[in-house]
Amino acid sequence: MLRKSANLSPILYLVGTPIGNLEDISLRALRILKEVKKIYCEDTRTSSVLLKHYNITTPLESYHNFNEETKAETIIEYMKEGNDVALISDAGNPIISDPGFKLVDLAIKNNVAITTIPGPSAFTQAFMMSNMPFPFLFYGFLKPKKLEREKELNELKYLKASLIFYEAPHRLQDTIKSIIEVLGDREIYLARELTKKFEEHIYAKASELLEDIPNLKGEMVLIVKGYEEEKIDTDKFTLINEQIKLGLKANDAIKEVAKMLNIDKKELYKEYINYKQQNE
Ligand code: SAM
Repeated sequence: MLRKSANLSPILYLVGTPIGNLEDISLRALRILKEVKKIYCEDTRTSSVLLKHYNITTPLESYHNFNEETKAETIIEYMKEGNDVALISDAGNPIISDPGFKLVDLAIKNNVAITTIPGPSAFTQAFMMSNMPFPFLFYGFLKPKKLEREKELNELKYLKASLIFYEAPHRLQDTIKSIIEVLGDREIYLARELTKKFEEHIYAKASELLEDIPNLKGEMVLIVKGYEEEKIDTDKFTLINEQIKLGLKANDAIKEVAKMLNIDKKELYKEYINYKQQNE
């Protein structure tokens, strides 16, 4: 068992930052960003806009997908000298479809204290607006290549959870096509430009969304309704049960109903067995 206290020093702070509106940052986040020795971020140009807005002069260094492995080790060494640091991303929370995993992994292995300073994530804000049922599965970005993306979707096909994806506008059309192809024409909620000037919420069928794609720009979250079992056609089973009540054996009742409805009796037999198992 590994138990970690968040109060040892030095501390690695995982700090949530805005997803568009600079005002969406906590007072505690601003204080921590002022107090730590260094702030690590994905893109120093993007994060310096936020820091400048709040007159934060803490040194900023890059920590991104391309230097994550080596930089994580450097950061841990720097922390071992007694320095508190913060990790932020371009938007929202680090780690959530953003760099940070390697750093947290190394911090845990090196017994370095970690804590989080809460802030928004695009997917939590989107889910609240989605009117989709719990539970949900946050997937992040699907793979860009069609075959790989459709394989991923295939693995999610029978999940009854609402499926949350991040997507870029230039890939939206291909992604929606794959969703229709693999998951079917499901209900979708699309959150666009959350917390920004052109924020928009779209509730539609996947096929309806496809028609509107040329108008959909900016940052977006897609939430797809989970798998719903097809409604069982109870009528034919009711008919079978009625025949049984009238005195027929189950096999004969199935034959009779198959004849009545002009359907295949072997198929009806299989369906009836399934239906009985599910309803016993
Ligand atoms: N770390 C971020 C978080 O906590 O949500 C996510 C970073 S991920 C690299 C960027 C993706 O998040 C975008 O492509 C988009 O899918 C989604 N996203 C970020 N900001 C958004 C916003 N304001 N509105 C809608 N989606 C947003």
